[in-house]
Amino acid sequence: MNNPFQNAMNQLERATKVKQFNPEFISLLTQPEREIRISIPITMDNGSLKVFEGYRVQYNNARGPYKGGIRYHKDTDINEVKALAFWMALKCAVVNIPMGGGKGGVTVDPRELSKGEIEKLSRGWVKMMARDIGPKIDVPAPDMNTTPEIMAWMADEYVKITGDKTNATFTGKPIEAGGSEGRGPATGLGGFYVFDTLRSKLHLPESCKIVIQGFGNVGGNAANILFQNGHKIIAISEVDGAILKEDGIDINALNEYKKVNGKIEGFPGSRKISNNELLILECDVLIPAAMESQITEKNANDIKTKLVMELANGPTTPEADDILFGRGISVIPDILANAGGVTVSTFEWEQNLKGEHWNEIDVFAKLKTIMVNEALEIYEKANSLKTDLRRAAFILALERIEEEEKERL
Ligand code: GLU
Repeated sequence: MNNPFQNAMNQLERATKVKQFNPEFISLLTQPEREIRISIPITMDNGSLKVFEGYRVQYNNARGPYKGGIRYHKDTDINEVKALAFWMALKCAVVNIPMGGGKGGVTVDPRELSKGEIEKLSRGWVKMMARDIGPKIDVPAPDMNTTPEIMAWMADEYVKITGDKTNATFTGKPIEAGGSEGRGPATGLGGFYVFDTLRSKLHLPESCKIVIQGFGNVGGNAANILFQNGHKIIAISEVDGAILKEDGIDINALNEYKKVNGKIEGFPGSRKISNNELLILECDVLIPAAMESQITEKNANDIKTKLVMELANGPTTPEADDILFGRGISVIPDILANAGGVTVSTFEWEQNLKGEHWNEIDVFAKLKTIMVNEALEIYEKANSLKTDLRRAAFILALERIEEEEKERL
C-alpha cells in the first residue's frame, strides 16, 4: 500500500535537490506541528452507539492560520491526513494567500450513514475540536464527501459552543449561511485558469481530448467548464465505474442523466470501462480528480496523454513522476492546479471577517488573477531551474514559507 505521507516527504526531498534550502528549515517541514486524534461517539438511527475516529493535523502556520478541508472516507487515516495537511501548507504558499496548512478527516463511509447520522458526526467532530480551531487559529473547509450543508452544521455547532460572532471559522458554507459566491466551482475553475494559461506553452491544441477521473464537486465542475470552453471530454469516472464515448460526452446531458439515474453508467452512446482502462486512454489531457496514488509505477508507462493535470491531491507518486518526466509527459501539480478551492475559501474567510459579501464577477476576477500569475511564475521557474512543474511549485512555496519562518525563529 502506498503511504501518501512518505510520498509527500519524498517530493519535498526531490525539490530540495534542485534548490538547496537551509536544512534546519526543511527539517521543520518533515513533521506536523500538531496532530489531533479524537473519538466521536454517535447514537445511530437504530439506537446503537458507534464510535468514529477523527483527525485534525495542523501542519504549519508560519504564513497564517492552519487551513484545509475535512475528509470523510473509509480509507482516511492519519498518514493520509498528514500528507494532505502538508500539501495544504505548500498550496496556500503557491497562491500566496495568508494561510498555513492543515487538514482533517473522519474514517467513515458516508454512504452507510443516514443524513441525520452524518449531521451528528459532523457536530461531534466540532464538539471535540472546538478549542483547537477558530478564525485566527485553524479554518476548516470541505474536502471529499463533505458538503456546504455539512459546513453549515459545523459552523452552527461552533457558534453554539463558543459564541463566536465572525462566522469565519469554517469556509465552504452555503451562501445563505455566510458562504462566498463561487466557492462551489472554485477548484475546477481555478484548474481551468491554470490549464488555459499553460495550454499553448505545453504545446496542446486549442480543443483538447480530455479524460477525467472523478465526477464529484471538483471533477464535475471541471468537466462543465472545459466542455463549455470547447474541449472534448471522452471519458469520466465516478466511484462505481467509468464511461467512454469517443466522439465526446455532452456534459449538460450527462448532468441531466445523473440527476435522473443517480449515476453516470448507462449514459446513451457511452460504453462502460474500468477505472484502470480510463487512466490509460489516449488523450491530450488526463485529469485525476479523485483519490491520491492513482498514477503509480505500475501504470505510468501505459499512460497515453500529453499532460496530467492534478485536480486531486497527490494522485501521482514520485516513482510515476519520474516515468512521466522521462516520457515527456508534463504534470501540472496539485498544489497549483487545485488551489482555486482554498483561494476562494480564503476570500470567504476575509468577507466574513470584514462583514462583506462580494459578487461572483469580482470573486472570479480575483481568482483568475492569482491562478494565471502563479501558473506563469511556476512555469518560468521550471524553465530557469530546468526542472518539472512540481519541483518548481515546491520551490516557490518553500521560498515563501521560509521567508515567514525566518521571522518567527
Ligand atoms: N479541500 C480543498 C483542498 O484540498 C479546499 C480546502 C479549503 O478550502 O480550505 O484544497
